[in-house]
Amino acid sequence: MTAPEAGRAGRSPTAPSRMADLRTRAEDLFPGGVNSPVRAFRSVGRAPLVLDKGAGPRVRDADGRWYLDYIGSWGPAILGHAHPTVIEAVREAAFDGFALGATGPREVELGELVRAAMPSMERMRFTSSGTEAAMSAVRLARGATGRDLVVKFNGGYHGHSDGLLVEAGSGVATLAIPGSAGVPTPTAAATIVVPYNDPDAVAAAFAAHPGRIAAIIVEPVAANAGVLPPAPGFLDRLREITTADGALLIFDEVITGFRVGPGGAQGRYGVTPDLTVLGKIVGGGMPVGAYGGRADLMAHIAPSGPVYQAGTLSGHPLAMAAGTATLRLLSADRYDALEATSARLEAGLRAAAAASGTPVGITRVGSLLTVFFRAGAPATAEEAFTADRAAYARFFGAMLDAGVLLAPSQFEAWFVSLAHGEAELDETLATAATAFAAVEAGR
Ligand code: PMP
Repeated sequence: MTAPEAGRAGRSPTAPSRMADLRTRAEDLFPGGVNSPVRAFRSVGRAPLVLDKGAGPRVRDADGRWYLDYIGSWGPAILGHAHPTVIEAVREAAFDGFALGATGPREVELGELVRAAMPSMERMRFTSSGTEAAMSAVRLARGATGRDLVVKFNGGYHGHSDGLLVEAGSGVATLAIPGSAGVPTPTAAATIVVPYNDPDAVAAAFAAHPGRIAAIIVEPVAANAGVLPPAPGFLDRLREITTADGALLIFDEVITGFRVGPGGAQGRYGVTPDLTVLGKIVGGGMPVGAYGGRADLMAHIAPSGPVYQAGTLSGHPLAMAAGTATLRLLSADRYDALEATSARLEAGLRAAAAASGTPVGITRVGSLLTVFFRAGAPATAEEAFTADRAAYARFFGAMLDAGVLLAPSQFEAWFVSLAHGEAELDETLATAATAFAAVEAGR
C-alpha cells in the first residue's frame, strides 16, 4: 500500500493492512475479487476498496480510513448511509420474522406510497432487484402486445437479463449483437438499439418494423453512460411514436425514481409511461425492484393472466420497511434541498475546472451529475464515450488520495445525498481544485 492510500487513517503505514488481506481473500473467492464488476476499479487502474462502514455522507475502508462518498451505494443512499430512522424501521421489522411466504402489511404500505407518488403505477409487483423488474416488464410488454421486438438506447442499462444486455451493431437503428458472452444471438437480435436523444432514429426503427415492436425501454434520464439529460421534447416523442404504433413505453426509473423528484422522471418531465421499472431508493438500500403500470396491462401477470413472474423473497419485509421509511423522509422540501446542494456542486466544479484550464462537460439533473473529460456536454452515449478516460482516472485517483470517493468509472453518475452539507461541498470543491490540477500535470 502506498503512503497516500494509508492516508489519514490513524493506522501506521507499517501496520498490516486488513484491507489488503480482505482483498486477497476476496480475489480467491469472487471473479475479479468482487460481486459486481464495477467494484473492481479496473477502468481507473486502482486497487479496489474494501468498505466496512457507512455513516451519513461518508464510508470507511477496512483499514479505518474515511472517505466522502459520491457512489451512494450506486443510487439508493439518498439519505446518506445508515440513517437512524431507516435502521429503526428495519430493526422493528426484523423482530416480526423475515419473509413469511405470504402477503404482509409492509408490502401494502410501500405499494400505496409508490402509487401515490407515481399514479401511472396503478398495479405493481415488487421484486428483489432492478434486473428482475426490467426483465419482467419487458416480458409483460411482449405478452400483452403479442410482439417480440424491443427498442433500447445505446448506453442504456436495464440490468443483465439476456435480451437487454446487448450492444448496437453498426448503423443507426440496427438489430443488436450480444454485449456479453453467453447471450444467444437470436435473443440479442430481438432488441433494436438506437442512439439516445435521437427521435428520428426511433421513428426509423418503427418504420422498418411496423406493428412488430412490443416496447421502447428507456432511462428517462440516461445515467449509465454518465448522466445524459433528455433533450427537450425527446420523451414526448417516444410517447407519441409508441402510441401511434400500438407499442408500450417503459420508463426504467431504477435510478431516477425518487431521485430526480418525488414523482421520478415521469413527474419531472410530465410524460406518462405505460410501465415503470423501479429499484434502488424504493428499497431504502435493501435489495428491491418493482415494476408496474396500467391496471389492464398488469392484469396479464400471473396469477391474473398468462405472463409468469415470481420471487421467493419478493416484497421482503425488511426491504419494504427500509423503503417505506426512506420514502416517508423524502418530503418535497428535501428535493429542493438536494437541488440546491447539487447546483452549488455543479457550479463549483465548473469553476474549478475552468481555473485549471481543464476542458469538461458537466451534465446534471437534480442530484445526478457527471463531469465528462471532454469539451462540452454530450447528448448521446456515442458522444459521451469520446471522453478522456485517462484524464478521468487521474482525477479519480487524486480525489481518492485526498479522501473523496467518486464512481470508479467516467461513465457513471455522482450521487449527491441529503447528508452532503455545506462542509462536505467545501471539502469536495477544494479537493477537486487540486485534482483538476493533477489532471493537467499528467498531460
Ligand atoms: N436499470 C437501471 C437504470 C440501472 O441503473 C440498474 C442498475 N444500476 C438496473 C436497471 C439493474 O438494477 P440491479 O442492479 O438492482 O439489478
